[in-house]
Amino acid sequence: MTTATDQLSAIEEARRYLVGGVNSPVRAFRHIGGEPVMLARAEGAEVEDVRGRRFVDFIAGWGAIILGHNPPVVVDALRRRLDAGVLLGLTHPAEAELARLITEAVPSVEQVRFTVSGTEADLTAVRLAMSVTGRPAVLAFEGGYHGHAALAPEVIRVPYNDPAAFETAVERHGERLACVIVEPVAANMGVVPPEPGCLARVRELSSRHGILLIFDEVVTGFRLGPGGAQGSLGVTPDLTVFGKIVGGGLPIGAVGGPRRLLQRLAPEGDVYHAGTFAGHPLSMAAGVAVLRELAAHPPYERLERLAARLADGLLRWAREHGVEFQVNRAGSMLTVFFAGSPVRNEADAKASQRDRFARWARHLLGQGILVPPSPFEALFLSAAHTEEHIERVVQAAGAAFQEMER
Ligand code: PLP
Repeated sequence: MTTATDQLSAIEEARRYLVGGVNSPVRAFRHIGGEPVMLARAEGAEVEDVRGRRFVDFIAGWGAIILGHNPPVVVDALRRRLDAGVLLGLTHPAEAELARLITEAVPSVEQVRFTVSGTEADLTAVRLAMSVTGRPAVLAFEGGYHGHAALAPEVIRVPYNDPAAFETAVERHGERLACVIVEPVAANMGVVPPEPGCLARVRELSSRHGILLIFDEVVTGFRLGPGGAQGSLGVTPDLTVFGKIVGGGLPIGAVGGPRRLLQRLAPEGDVYHAGTFAGHPLSMAAGVAVLRELAAHPPYERLERLAARLADGLLRWAREHGVEFQVNRAGSMLTVFFAGSPVRNEADAKASQRDRFARWARHLLGQGILVPPSPFEALFLSAAHTEEHIERVVQAAGAAFQEMER
């Protein structure tokens, strides 16, 4: 255990040598103010900072962690891999095994290309779509996140959950659109589920205009169920992008789809994609371990129950304290918005009372509950969370509402 001074000097050191003290902006805690939390360890549903303070973790590796931190199946698989060589540089059996496990769970996927990040997989999927269709433009949704790089030279954005705006954009730009890319359940404007019929309409119009439909399931893949959002919503994309959970906590991304489309990638086709670390043996080993475990002991029903209980508990306290409050939830991912009316798109999310979210999140932190330090991220549950953890966060949230009334 280290002291508060050590924590401060660790933060100062980070600020000196890392841009903004971080390697990914949200970790700077600028949305909620206060000092960033510097973590040292993670186990199960809990994390520990460099001062030895313990938190119940609802960041869960930004959704990458579904079995909890360091589950034995993953640790054992990684140890075996470490003993047999970390980086092989050529094809190895676990790549095909992880790809097979994905295809078995997601019927729209026959073949897979692994990348190192979700960003890289999104870019690869879009380039593939541009090559297949011979068209230059991409349609995406406001508030949708598909990695930190520009997807294409021309990206047209329309509001999420707005079929009329989508139809207008497709009518106007359809002949130039290579693809529509969408988070089937949005998670980066906070969680915003699609309204009934919206994605079916996107599917229908995309097909009619020869536009490929890409589901970015980096967050939702293997989180909303083994079949991801497409499995639970019953809408089938042309291409699917994966990340996070399929890497078992190690860096990964993947593009999946029918063989006829994936065959356009090199070495079969002319869309060049390559990577020193693509199909990294450690990521493959961890991913195989997690997907096997998810298939053998599906946690989804239990996660649904726990998450529903969390949402109900938060809403009860909010009502009790007369707070304008919304909980948007899909399975084991949820976002709270301090807003008086439903949040259906990015504009609604931005109109929520972000200062109140900041106070609430800081209060929870003070009580040992780690929620994402941004109103536009999701809280994630993992199989390591227990009813006791949920009860703790509900009680802490109640105390936070009370404190905020003062
Ligand atoms: N797509 C979605 C929906 C994401 O949430 C993210 C990351 O949070 C990405 C793509 C990018 O993935 P990565 O951070 O692995 O580059």
